Amino acid sequence: MTQILTDRRDVDFVLFEQMKVDKLSKHERFKIANKKTLKLIISEGRNLAINELFPAHVAGDREGCKFENGKVIAPESFRKPYKLFQEGGWVSLAEDIEWGGQGMPVAITYAANECFNAANCTFMMYPELTHGAGKLIEKFGTDKQKSLYLKNVFTGKWGGTMLLTEQEAGSDVGAISTSAVKNYDGTYSITGNKIFISSGEHDLTENIIHAVLARVEGAPAGTKGISLFLVPRIRVNDDGTLGEPNDVVCTGIEDKMGIHGNPSCSLSLGDKGNCKGTLLGKENKGLQAMFIMMNEARLTVGVQALGCATASYLHALNYARERRQGKSLMSGKDQNAPSIQIIGHPDVRRQLLTMKVYVEGIRSLIYYLGMCIDQMHVSDNEDEKAKYQGLVDLLTPVAKGYVTDKAFEVCNHGIQVFGGYGYIKDYPAEQLLRDCRITLIYEGTNGIQAIDFLGRKLGMNKGKLFYDLLGEIKKTITKAGQAAGLEGLAAGVEKAVEKLKKTAGILMKAAVSPKALNAFAFAHPFLEVTGDVIMSWMLLSRAVIADDRLKTKAGKKDIPFYEGQIKSVEFFVESILPVTSGKMDSILAMSASIVDIQDSSFGGK
Ligand SMILES: Cc1cc2nc3c(=O)[nH]c(=O)nc-3n(C[C@H](O)[C@H](O)[C@H](O)COP(=O)(O)OP(=O)(O)OC[C@H]3O[C@@H](n4cnc5c(N)ncnc54)[C@H](O)[C@@H]3O)c2cc1C
Repeated sequence: MTQILTDRRDVDFVLFEQMKVDKLSKHERFKIANKKTLKLIISEGRNLAINELFPAHVAGDREGCKFENGKVIAPESFRKPYKLFQEGGWVSLAEDIEWGGQGMPVAITYAANECFNAANCTFMMYPELTHGAGKLIEKFGTDKQKSLYLKNVFTGKWGGTMLLTEQEAGSDVGAISTSAVKNYDGTYSITGNKIFISSGEHDLTENIIHAVLARVEGAPAGTKGISLFLVPRIRVNDDGTLGEPNDVVCTGIEDKMGIHGNPSCSLSLGDKGNCKGTLLGKENKGLQAMFIMMNEARLTVGVQALGCATASYLHALNYARERRQGKSLMSGKDQNAPSIQIIGHPDVRRQLLTMKVYVEGIRSLIYYLGMCIDQMHVSDNEDEKAKYQGLVDLLTPVAKGYVTDKAFEVCNHGIQVFGGYGYIKDYPAEQLLRDCRITLIYEGTNGIQAIDFLGRKLGMNKGKLFYDLLGEIKKTITKAGQAAGLEGLAAGVEKAVEKLKKTAGILMKAAVSPKALNAFAFAHPFLEVTGDVIMSWMLLSRAVIADDRLKTKAGKKDIPFYEGQIKSVEFFVESILPVTSGKMDSILAMSASIVDIQDSSFGGK
């Protein structure tokens, strides 16, 4: 099987031509992040992905995780890649060197992680959750918590997890019942049962640090009474050595559709009354703290889905260029006409171009968000920082909800391009679809992302974040409008932006009116049309650069690449935005049928 896991030309295009990541090196914080270094990092990451992570993808799926005597055994094929990944400093590429990171921009981390996820998204769940736990410690930990845990977590020597979900508390985190009782020494005794915990127990690391949501005795009901605790699987002594097991017991792992190489664990905490944790942050402020990790985790899930979509697209593209089947439609009744590569069939081309525009648009969006985070870190202007924070806040549900929906659609096309071979396990397409499917569910289902977008993000500062975003899009439209040949495409995107603005205004009002239920019935379609408009923005911005290169300095080798950028936005504006516009009409009609239909009228009885 050909190992093509990233479109290096396109990754470089987004990083250095569209986002200009190397310009960050003018800031003290990123002074070592010059273009040469950044390119080297991407090359090194790609080598690791191709040589070590990718071969373990299928093996990890077939092996799965084993649950024996309360212990979880990770796939054997993950051991060497984990060691190399950890030793290579990939767990915390963007974190402070002081705590075991590499001090690189977040945008570069996303580019490297896209490649790692394309190679083996299941494997990546171990280091990515670990990194997320580290961010919580970094942000909310006391000096003691940091010195005991942070370096070991950021370097991946110890694993990290996120313990929210319980049987009765999935989307509704406020319903958790795990309890915490304060001890005389300031620690808390934790008791409860968590389910579906990714990497909750395994043998890739000597210890696992759990970030656990629980309720302190007497805390207010709901989300206002939730606190966050650090609960090690094995206690850590004051001198940093490992102590006794901490009464965190895995009671089983799930048998599931995909991501077989990562265990989804049921964990019992304090069954013997001996599970101790330390408070992270303040009592009853746990959910706000966890949201910091969850927001990062949501972007991480977007990267995971992008990785799956990238791999699915590149495998399908490669296959379509090699597989010969059927004759050209143009060969008429000529029985002797040769069979052609399936990339020559219009329907296959339609699917490949659909995959291309989403993969490339999503790549641009994700790296753009990475750049917004980096700009926040280096800017010394408070208004500018607020602008970037606003963009990240607003776009996080898009980067999780919309991106994972579309990535899954890409993986679905990936199977179709392979025909029957897409459905069987000799080729990667079916595993990519199975592995990708979870991204629509965890870190808040996509339904919850849509509610967050309509109910919270859209109305923030009286809609300012949203209108600021439209302002950013308009800047690109203006540039495109000034480029000979791109005016029509710019006008197409502008039309969609105007309609989105109108749709948002009407939906925002409806969401706080007696018709709120009707409005929220269209929250998910609204997230989708917003995502479509953002894709058209990202693709138009690519086309502006490509057009300039084609008119000025594109080398012969680069011409097809740049022409492809223009064709992508052409396809999106001409073939996808009209459908988006129709979807906006359907949102504006805000049919009451969804809310009005009686439960019993759904049938099925
Ligand atoms: C493989 C896997 C790994 C996971 N890893 C972790 C982990 O590491 N840590 C962790 O804490 N959890 C983890 N989870 C749990 C995951 O986050 C939850 O499954 C998810 O949040 C949904 O909760 P639920 O399964 O209880 O579904 P429910 O909350 O019961 O939702 C069922 C359906 O109802 C919808 N719904 C529910 N409430 C609302 C609402 N208010 N408005 C609109 N729609 C609603 C949902 O969108 C969904 O479609 C994992 C789950 C899986 C399957």
